[in-house]
Amino acid sequence: MDSGRRQFLGRWGAVVTGVAAPFTLPGQAFPESHAHPDLGAGATAAATDPQSDSGTRTDNGTRTGTGTGHDRFMWLAIAQARRNPKWPFGAVIVGTRSGEVLGRGVNTGADSPVLHGEVVAMNDYVRRQGNQGWADTTLYTTGEPCSMCMSALAWANVRRVVWASSIDEIRSTDIIQIDLSAREVAAAARSFYTPQLLLGGVLAEHTNYLFREAQRLRQRFPDASAV
Ligand SMILES: [Zn+2]
Repeated sequence: MDSGRRQFLGRWGAVVTGVAAPFTLPGQAFPESHAHPDLGAGATAAATDPQSDSGTRTDNGTRTGTGTGHDRFMWLAIAQARRNPKWPFGAVIVGTRSGEVLGRGVNTGADSPVLHGEVVAMNDYVRRQGNQGWADTTLYTTGEPCSMCMSALAWANVRRVVWASSIDEIRSTDIIQIDLSAREVAAAARSFYTPQLLLGGVLAEHTNYLFREAQRLRQRFPDASAV
């Protein structure tokens, strides 16, 4: 499985470098091989600059490598996901230029079927920022947005969306999925939505592990609450 492969669509946005990382590092709950790297206090982040990644882009538009810019924020989405070990869908919304975390959330589907991690993060964003400024944000999510969430992101005009595990990978852990990729939904919204970046596979090796662990938890404790 080439879970580390990344796919890009569209042009890169503005290059952002030297942005301070205004967040608390997630804790260490993974086995060592899945623990996040030591980012270091005061480390800087290129919030959404794919060129900061260490991988090499290939002619077919894919990129491989460990990277740094997107990884930093995906770790924050993973930290959110860990709040719901059985359904580890976490998301953060980051200011594309500032690198500031403007919204965050985890799947709370036990409360409402529409409260996927992305929607919870969007609601958090609205509470904190108001219903404005979406075009200058990047959403990071542990799982490829489902058609509902990708539609919501298109309606909001969130122009940069980065995910880790693919819909196919999530489905392989016995989580039902509507069979539409995020890119297909975005393409169907092309009359009003022009994303700058749709990128999958960031830290997928870690989130795939998270989803497999979640499957084991659901099998072992099928009657426990969703959280
Ligand atoms: Zn969703």
